[in-house]
Amino acid sequence: MINVTIWNEGRHEKESESVAAVYPKGIHNCIADFLGTDEELNVRTAVLDDPDNGLPDDVLNSTDVLLWWGHMAHECVPDELVEKVYNRVMCGMGFIALHSAHFSKPFKRLMGTTCSLKWRDGDRERLWCINPSHPIAKGVPESFDIPVEEMYGERFDIPAPDETVFIGWFKGGEVFRSGNCWYRGLGKVFYFQPGHEENPTYYIPEVQKIIHNAVYWAAPEKIVGEIECPWVEAPEKHYDGPNK
Ligand code: ZN
Repeated sequence: MINVTIWNEGRHEKESESVAAVYPKGIHNCIADFLGTDEELNVRTAVLDDPDNGLPDDVLNSTDVLLWWGHMAHECVPDELVEKVYNRVMCGMGFIALHSAHFSKPFKRLMGTTCSLKWRDGDRERLWCINPSHPIAKGVPESFDIPVEEMYGERFDIPAPDETVFIGWFKGGEVFRSGNCWYRGLGKVFYFQPGHEENPTYYIPEVQKIIHNAVYWAAPEKIVGEIECPWVEAPEKHYDGPNK
């Protein structure tokens, strides 16, 4: 059994009728609906406006894979929570950053770069699987089209991924590293670009397949307990630089 927590900022759905029309129960519940059909997954949801921003210690500390969707309220996520998420990843928790979560605090903390990119409004995207033997590509076709998706283009300021599984091509000619994997501490991180809030992207079967696969890929073999985890103490304690 894999404990999956789907965290969503949840503000667009509250503030925009057009977004609420696409995701009446919120993006988090749309994702929970398709992941929840797998009996091996224990799926929970959380939103920014829940108590403790949806991630009190008991929830975070019992999460094997955390999915994160955010856009307009990245700054409302407390730094203290970001450090807890970061430390949990160091100890083995999987982290899946979706779409505009490229600018979320936990993703930027895990990457250590600006994570900036080029963007413009809706365009047709063709998603190419360039690493068909990767676990996240299992059952995914060589390519498929997303009729309307926000264009994200290079340069995407991320550290060179350990693995790139998908490249997005847009009708306007841009390309983007749309599905990327990194190893951080004992944890695994996946970034997946499609999923703009105004588009019904999370209803597309291939997109659902990729996210489902990513949960299994990111799930840890085991999460090291806090006391045993060598990275859980303040990282600066391990730095012995020349200026001390
Ligand atoms: Zn977007």
